[in-house]
Amino acid sequence: MPPPRLIEVRWEVYMRRDDFHRLNQERERRGESLFANPRNAAAGSLRQLDPKVTASRPLGVFFYGIGRVEGREFKTHWEILQSFLKWGLVVNPYVELCSDIEGCINYFNKISEIREKLDYEIDGVVFKVNQLEYQRRLGEISRSPRWALAYKFPSIQATTRIRDIKVQVGRTGALTPVAILDTVEIGGARVSRATLHNQDEIERKDIRIGDTVLVQRAGDVIPEVVKVIKEKRTGRERKFELPSYCPVCGTKISHPSGEVVARCPNISCPARLKESIKHFASKQALDIEGLGDKIVEALVDKGFVKSISDLYRLKKEDFLTLEGFAEKSAQNMIDALERSKNTTLDRLLYGLGIRHVGQHLARVLAERFGDIESLTKASEQQLLQIPEIGPEVAASIKDFFTSRENLRVIRELEKLGVRYEKREKPTGDKLKGLTFVFTGELDNFTREEAKEKVEKEGGKVSSSVSRRTSYVVVGKNPGSKLDKARRYGVKTINEEEFIRLIS
Ligand SMILES: [Zn+2]
Repeated sequence: MPPPRLIEVRWEVYMRRDDFHRLNQERERRGESLFANPRNAAAGSLRQLDPKVTASRPLGVFFYGIGRVEGREFKTHWEILQSFLKWGLVVNPYVELCSDIEGCINYFNKISEIREKLDYEIDGVVFKVNQLEYQRRLGEISRSPRWALAYKFPSIQATTRIRDIKVQVGRTGALTPVAILDTVEIGGARVSRATLHNQDEIERKDIRIGDTVLVQRAGDVIPEVVKVIKEKRTGRERKFELPSYCPVCGTKISHPSGEVVARCPNISCPARLKESIKHFASKQALDIEGLGDKIVEALVDKGFVKSISDLYRLKKEDFLTLEGFAEKSAQNMIDALERSKNTTLDRLLYGLGIRHVGQHLARVLAERFGDIESLTKASEQQLLQIPEIGPEVAASIKDFFTSRENLRVIRELEKLGVRYEKREKPTGDKLKGLTFVFTGELDNFTREEAKEKVEKEGGKVSSSVSRRTSYVVVGKNPGSKLDKARRYGVKTINEEEFIRLIS
């Protein structure tokens, strides 16, 4: 059934945990204040005066209710949600119809269990009376409906004591103070560290070594200190000052006034090198399978790896000197390194860890320049012509490719066999801005051919279905991607419809 002539829909805006962290990382790099949690970030993004800022933020929506409707009668809340799905309005995939109080309790327990695994934060569930007629009869008191009930999860906070404050050095050299805590259990996990973000944050919350604090943990996020419990102070607490020299390499810290973040400026700092290599090897970058954090740290500590490109000089024997490696696991690492050499330009650019160049911008640059040589030669003026790039980002890219050391690493990577497919520029724009996912076999194309067709028309192909997918093309014997498409309310089309789109 088509949507009614007039319908007012209600929805809720949220921000995913990973998007929230990326946003905060970017803000940190730019020296801007950080959002405390995804909820504040989402709310703050909506409150912007400039809608362009809101549009640039990674927000998601779930539709959950209606206001005025003309030309259609609904009997139940469930019917409304099912209609939303048919019209392509995203409904939370975890909604469920419970037939009695037992069902509600089971549902609450189920959601409590998966809560931490969701890619967004929730603080409870809402139970609603399904029959709209009953809803009308129950009515509301002082603007809150008597037919809906919010049931919150128990808190995931606990109090503990700060034993010490240590400093971590990140990939960009940023210094992050970390509280070392008396181990405490929060929401089923043992917590012994919490991030303190930066010196300003420590001063704002007046956090001292020895303080008793309220610590909060949410999902896979690093736990953080909510506040100091000042009544518990004994007078023996000590104030913390960020060191003036890098705790890892001893270089004098740079902390320009007006910037929140203090940095170790030494690009060869072992702490920075470790983080750079972890970033380079990560799934979104070169995707070196099995090269975990511990191994990277050992490789740097042993002096096997002094720059990113050294990874591709590693031999099986090198891995065999590391703890826990045997013949087979060492060979697996060599194979994984070999496999990672076949990559794409955007992955490589992202992996190099150029300041301000995240996954999205890496893709934009890859499409625009096609190969790394053209990008290294690009002037700031040329970079500034790209809509996504402002003066600060252009300067950062130019800086990166001006550094002799960086150019050496790039040459080395190429010499050691890192290859990316040079993408042909799209010739049409029929599919511009659209993302496709394929599932099942097609009669007229291989996957690779279908992908080329999409890219030629300016579209993108992804290997997994998300809420941002425009179409899922369903061939013979489709897999689980079809279920996922339905769950997310993503439009599905068959091969014939796909051919019509591209021709
Ligand atoms: Zn350092």
